[in-house]
Amino acid sequence: MDNSKEIEISVVAPVYNEEGNLPFLIPKLAEVLRGLGRSYEMIFVDDGSSDGSRRILKEMASQYPFIRILRLKENRGLSTALMAGMREARGEKIVTLDSDLQNDPADIPRLLEYLDRYDMATGWRRKREDTWLKKISSKIGNGVRNWLSGENIQDSACTLRAFKKECIQEIPVFNGMHRFLSTLVKMKGYRIVEVPVSHHPRKSGKSKYNIRNRMVRSFIDLLAVRWMKRRALHYEIEERI
Ligand code: UDP
Ligand code: MG
Repeated sequence: MDNSKEIEISVVAPVYNEEGNLPFLIPKLAEVLRGLGRSYEMIFVDDGSSDGSRRILKEMASQYPFIRILRLKENRGLSTALMAGMREARGEKIVTLDSDLQNDPADIPRLLEYLDRYDMATGWRRKREDTWLKKISSKIGNGVRNWLSGENIQDSACTLRAFKKECIQEIPVFNGMHRFLSTLVKMKGYRIVEVPVSHHPRKSGKSKYNIRNRMVRSFIDLLAVRWMKRRALHYEIEERI
């Protein structure tokens, strides 16, 4: 990889046991990024996968010079994988997306276009392609989140986002933060827009998040975010003498 070249866009994708999806995702992503005509890198964060993801990523990295792999020692969950990858990003703009092909790389150019007017463009999966249980629980989740945190966000947990790197530099980090990223970034005064994006059914591998491992934890996180938001420091300096 040519480190001397300045990178404009860093794509960060968390990977946990996605061997069936990576061989399709990477060429698709490469085609979309090539079309942008800007310099880029792809950072795949292997969140301790136990399937063939590690081998596939290495093979792909030997074919595509702009691929970087960050392998975590153990599986730590989506928030950690995303944060670890975002911290490694060299681009001034970051794009994040799931690596299971539920997010569509084709939406990336449209999200990036918003960054001349906004600091973050976040995906809104208007027509979700998940199980009915997941769809209902997400609807309720978004509703309760908005109600208790005083927000009006349609889809708070969509990984597909484009943003300026500075947005994530000072936000509080914790396990589960990926569901509150928009609120955390907004709290720092950044401008956010929700953009409808496509969503596809998962064709290979299994979803790692379900109602059991999401509900209680994300509710506790919500109370913490609500507290943080209420207790945030707001002030303007009128004069410095
Ligand atoms: N993922 C991860 N670590 C985990 C669980 C998931 O990096 O411990 C990745 C996963 O490979 C995928 C994304 O996070 O790219 C979203 O996970 P998943 O598709 O299981 O969630 P869902 O779309 O069902 O909510
Ligand atoms: Mg998924």
